[in-house]
Amino acid sequence: MKIHVLTADIYNKIAAGEVVDRPYSVVKELVENAIDAGATEISVEIEQGGKSLVRVTDNGCGIEAGELVHAYQPHATSKLASAEDLFGVTTLGFRGEALASIAAVSRMKIVSRAGEEAFSLTSDGGAMGTVTPAAGARGTEVTVRDLFYNTPARLKFLKSDGAEEADVTQMMARILLSRPEISFTYLVNGKEKYRSFGDGLASALVCVYGKEILGELHRIDAEKHGVRIYGYIGNRNFSKPNRTYQSLFVNGRYVVNQTVGAAVSNAYQSYLMKRQYPFYVLFLEIPPEIVDVNVHPNKADVRFADNQVVYGCVYSVVSSVLDGNSRALEYLVPDGSDSAPATSSVPAAPSAPAAPSAELPRKGPEKKAPAPDVAQSMTYAQAKEELSFKIPPYGGGTPLPPREEEPVRLEVHAPQTEDAFEENKKLLSAAQPRVEVASLRYKGELFRTYLLFECGDDAYIVDQHAAHERIIYDRLREKVRNRTVVSQPMLAPYLITLNAPEFSFLEKQFSLLEELGFEIGDFGGGTVKVSAVPSDLVRLDCKAFFDEILSSMESLRAIRLSDLLKDKLAQAACKAAVKGGESLTAEEAGALLAEMNGDMGLKCPHGRPVAVHVKKSELEKLFKRIV
Ligand code: ADP
Ligand code: MG
Repeated sequence: MKIHVLTADIYNKIAAGEVVDRPYSVVKELVENAIDAGATEISVEIEQGGKSLVRVTDNGCGIEAGELVHAYQPHATSKLASAEDLFGVTTLGFRGEALASIAAVSRMKIVSRAGEEAFSLTSDGGAMGTVTPAAGARGTEVTVRDLFYNTPARLKFLKSDGAEEADVTQMMARILLSRPEISFTYLVNGKEKYRSFGDGLASALVCVYGKEILGELHRIDAEKHGVRIYGYIGNRNFSKPNRTYQSLFVNGRYVVNQTVGAAVSNAYQSYLMKRQYPFYVLFLEIPPEIVDVNVHPNKADVRFADNQVVYGCVYSVVSSVLDGNSRALEYLVPDGSDSAPATSSVPAAPSAPAAPSAELPRKGPEKKAPAPDVAQSMTYAQAKEELSFKIPPYGGGTPLPPREEEPVRLEVHAPQTEDAFEENKKLLSAAQPRVEVASLRYKGELFRTYLLFECGDDAYIVDQHAAHERIIYDRLREKVRNRTVVSQPMLAPYLITLNAPEFSFLEKQFSLLEELGFEIGDFGGGTVKVSAVPSDLVRLDCKAFFDEILSSMESLRAIRLSDLLKDKLAQAACKAAVKGGESLTAEEAGALLAEMNGDMGLKCPHGRPVAVHVKKSELEKLFKRIV
């Protein structure tokens, strides 16, 4: 066997895959470089989800002409000169891999000006040109075209333009929130998506979520046991259908962390229902010695020296604010304390707090007493001890789902699980055969609810509501199955404002929803417009329906659109069906039976039997005529 030493070219392409696997990571690395360069203005541009173009321009320190070549080389960094420096890293990057990796798998051009003059350097799949004078303002512009053009295998793994774009957009939103002092411009296919002004967190939130958002949030800032926690949390009536509205930054870095996630979830537990998730943009500042940031470029989590302390701090601050207890005032930041726009209004501190309002959904047992506040002067070790037996058990929160990439498909009528009723029907009809309608004689009703039919030595007692419900349900479902659903335009269209991942997810369901009778489309600006619903579902609660779809987007268990629709159809059928207590004429009873087609094995959409079979011999046994 011969051992080959890889050429630099091949080596760089392999290494590139570790740092740069998608447009998302290219944008992230370039923006982090711009931030590290001290930029106060950063502009990001992508086209075709970043596949054909990523351009990041900044007004940072620039790269000296003599250094341009080094910037392209692997393990070239200005941020670390010796091994000792590793322990004092304050910049986002320091491995010196990103530019080299991106250059190896794209056509890249850097124009940069550190001093009086700008210079540019291009690279084609890692093959560098020469440094030439160029025109350019102070700062750096990195243009990356045709990502992975020379590594087709990698190209194949990219998601659709829309999905890659959604991921980049979601990240841009987070970067923008994490650096409210920097002014960002973000353009997608030439259209401006975000523009922030570098004038504070409130302003950044408005840029990402619209100006109404501030009215739904509490601004907090608290410090406990050396942990500072600040940012915005949704008020107790504000929820989202999934976790994509949750951002956590630990020591300036976006991370996904179970401990903090569970602490916040548990604090909201008594206010939110199942499948409602809190909104938050939270910043944690934790002494570096008790936090271990995993700085792998594509993953972001942190480990805390002690989860319980962090859990306790977050839980106690968030739940104090939500519950409106006496500590809340201390944690809440009054309006206007940062240069927020005049329109912003952070909700006033709950002045008459204590009792949550009656309509709040309270589920499960009352919240356990939150950890009492401990004197700020307490040492870390004392705090640990104090908290470890007072906080609710960690892990009570819903576990976070695996990050992204879970393919979620909504389908209609997957053949194998076609319908549980169909199954039931088969089983039951063996025992309760279809009865010839003509052979059944209507003998009257009981309690204005049960219709009595006789056929030879058999009697059938039919629940008129259940039977009618089932008939309507079958009819509706048949229409869905045959795609003959009629759309009913809504008086006022229903608008749904979505974030990037939600939009990209819902957009994929458009055609299916249309086939089912919805009229739905892109309304621009991340908003979806529903202008018609299936005519049988005119009273559909659009918010609940679409929240349900959106809540499935990150769960492992993808709900099937057909199941969701079945639910709605069952509700519609139930509303339309005759009720128990309504007297039917003999003709109406006969018509109902005819529609049932004599099928005595039917079940209503909720699974209750439609008919009960009684044999003459069973009655005779009851009367002891026979034994
Ligand atoms: P790292 O960020 O880990 O140092 P990179 O490959 O991302 O490695 O960048 C290599 C070097 O290029 C950086 O250390 C920095 O000196 C320089 N550089 C990259 N981008 C910029 C920028 N936007 N402005 C100024 N210098 C930059
Ligand atoms: Mg870098």
